[in-house]
Amino acid sequence: MPVPPPLEVDVGRGLLRPARYVPSPNQDTRPPGASLDLVVIHGISLPPGDFGGEWVERLFLNTLPPDGHPFFRTIEALRVSAHLFVRRDGEIVQFVPFHARAWHAGASVWRHRVACNDFSIGIELEGDDLVPYAAAQYERLADILVALRRAYATLAPAAVVGHSEIAPGRKTDPGPAFDWARLAGRGAEAG
Ligand SMILES: [Zn+2]
Repeated sequence: MPVPPPLEVDVGRGLLRPARYVPSPNQDTRPPGASLDLVVIHGISLPPGDFGGEWVERLFLNTLPPDGHPFFRTIEALRVSAHLFVRRDGEIVQFVPFHARAWHAGASVWRHRVACNDFSIGIELEGDDLVPYAAAQYERLADILVALRRAYATLAPAAVVGHSEIAPGRKTDPGPAFDWARLAGRGAEAG
């Protein structure tokens, strides 16, 4: 496989380069004074367990066809997004600029602070709780964390947590299949 190009954040635009940028309508401004203190890792696939399709992207764009799959009906009212989506092959899609608030965490709490969307960056990995994540995803995720920490000083010491950690009992992603030690071994400190 060819070595992917290094990643860099265009801080003015809040965009990762190179990444495909597809703006999601599911975003708004962060509360005044909110700083970036947390990275939240998620896992998602649509329908669950199916990889490679266009459905996750369309969910974040509010264009998921309700009759495309029986499961889609159960989530058609959702209005969600993430800053980044990392596909199985390592492709990165960005939906929300980093300075804006993406809608990924939902009801959540981290170290006694609620509403984690206010102060976090959300990264979705194309996956399923029990299916091992791809090597390309660990590599790209580690590169992303390096680029983010370089661009945003407040993220340098930031914790990296799973969605299940900030929404226990409600969310299970990225699931037991996500290997935190492997991420840490790539030079990105998990916390
Ligand atoms: Zn999640």
